[in-house]
Amino acid sequence: MKKIRVLIAKPGLDGHDRGALVIAQALRDHGMEVIYTGLRQSPVQIVQAAIQEDVDVIGLSSLSGAHKTLFPKVIEVLKERDAEDIPVVGGGVIPAEDIPFLLDKGVSKIFTSGSSTEALAVYIKQLIDPDSDQAEAPNKVSHIGIAVDTIEKALPFYTDTLGLELEGVESVESEGVKVAFLKIGDSRFELLEPTNDQSSIKKFIDKKGEGIHHIALDVNDVDKRIETLKTRGIPLINQESKPGAHNSQIAFIHPKAAHGVLFELCQQQEGSDS
Ligand code: ZN
Repeated sequence: MKKIRVLIAKPGLDGHDRGALVIAQALRDHGMEVIYTGLRQSPVQIVQAAIQEDVDVIGLSSLSGAHKTLFPKVIEVLKERDAEDIPVVGGGVIPAEDIPFLLDKGVSKIFTSGSSTEALAVYIKQLIDPDSDQAEAPNKVSHIGIAVDTIEKALPFYTDTLGLELEGVESVESEGVKVAFLKIGDSRFELLEPTNDQSSIKKFIDKKGEGIHHIALDVNDVDKRIETLKTRGIPLINQESKPGAHNSQIAFIHPKAAHGVLFELCQQQEGSDS
């Protein structure tokens, strides 16, 4: 397959290119051809270089705070030159509150200083070749798992106070839990009651008390997603998927990867009821 060609550019006046050089090397390590424009390039120079070098994607790096003017300017010049099919990815020191503005201006994605170069490489591969072997983003919250001492005592809050409907109760022996399902829109609350002392829900309640235990994300291919996370070095609790409630296949990401939140990846099987 043809190598992905990436132009890395630093628009604006800031005088450091260590970050851009690190990114360039990381993308080369991922088998991409990287052209680096050097410091202090104008949007016009950047677009010219991109067209001349026939790149697949432009990566803009900014530390100077000028991203709000310079990134949209690059996109504007691309349009003027009929080259707006070249996607623009941005990164650097960019406050989260500026990201929606930049996306709105046509930047495909912004990576902040907390992002890994691995995530950038994976994103570019997927952007250029959507059929590449990378998992898609999860499309909804499948359910929120809530640890309770007993379903019997917790249920009236959900059914009476909130007025939700109890869909069913199921025991998952392998996990030592009984699960009550309450539908809310396209998602569910799952009340998790421990059924033995080895249950991780029992340990959770002993340590932290009742409360939110995990958030489950609906994914279309849990095994593929696990592989993607592994290649990105994301710590997982389950190295392979396992059967969950409601005939699903599930795996947990380690909370240290997610700032203290336990995320479950949940794939509904064919023929299950959601
Ligand atoms: Zn769950």
